[in-house]
Amino acid sequence: MRIYGLSQSRSSEMKKENLPQKICIYCQRPFSWRKKWERDWAQVRYCSKACGSAARTRGVSR
Ligand SMILES: [Zn+2]
Repeated sequence: MRIYGLSQSRSSEMKKENLPQKICIYCQRPFSWRKKWERDWAQVRYCSKACGSAARTRGVSR
C-alpha cells in the first residue's frame, strides 16, 4: 500500500473535531463532514439519505 499525494504533515490539522459542520435542513440537527461528501459537500443539505428522501417526499426542497 503506497499513499502518494497525501500529506501526512497536514493530517494533524484535520482533526475530527475540526471537521466542518452543517445543519440538516430536515431534522435540524448538526452533522459533520464525511469522506463520502468530500466532492459535493457544498451541495449536502441533509445529514442522511433518510432525511433527504423524507424531505423530498414531504416537499421540503431547497
Ligand atoms: Zn437530518
